[in-house]
Amino acid sequence: MGTTEDDTAAERLRTLATHYIEPARTGTGIRGPRPTEARPPLNVNIVSHMAASVAEVIDRARADAPHAGHAPAVPDGIYQWWRDNTQHLDAEKRQARETVIYRQGLEHALAMGDHKVIRRHPCPACGCFGLFWRSTVGRAACSNLDCTDPLGLSRTWNLARLAHEHIAREFARTKRATI
Ligand SMILES: [Zn+2]
Repeated sequence: MGTTEDDTAAERLRTLATHYIEPARTGTGIRGPRPTEARPPLNVNIVSHMAASVAEVIDRARADAPHAGHAPAVPDGIYQWWRDNTQHLDAEKRQARETVIYRQGLEHALAMGDHKVIRRHPCPACGCFGLFWRSTVGRAACSNLDCTDPLGLSRTWNLARLAHEHIAREFARTKRATI
């Protein structure tokens, strides 16, 4: 299905699972009685973020394809599983699917502290590449001083909007290329 199917979201999910969840193993490796100090807890925020991401994909995949088989046990396989089970969908629904996957990819990057992913998107209002991530409100804000809402405040965008714009551009490009 062309350029929109990449596995960035899956790769990031895999990175989260392998590098951001496992607590550092600081033990000596010597077997014996349980250490008095507990191991550092799992990164609960990352664990719940991943669980919510997987649950959203499974819900949406089942809505698109009620007879889809079991979801893969490995979390980062869910995106391909969703695609494999929904190849029959029309372009509009495939675009909606890719938008969710792309938005989750952004969420995974932010969960790892990588805010640079936001800068690659033009502001949906003014088109400039001056967006930055405002963690306190969980939205991307435009740094263009002229790009304000009717109250004079910087325009801000949620990830769903940025994902929607990005995937819409990709689908339009693919469509043009195949005409
Ligand atoms: Zn702007």
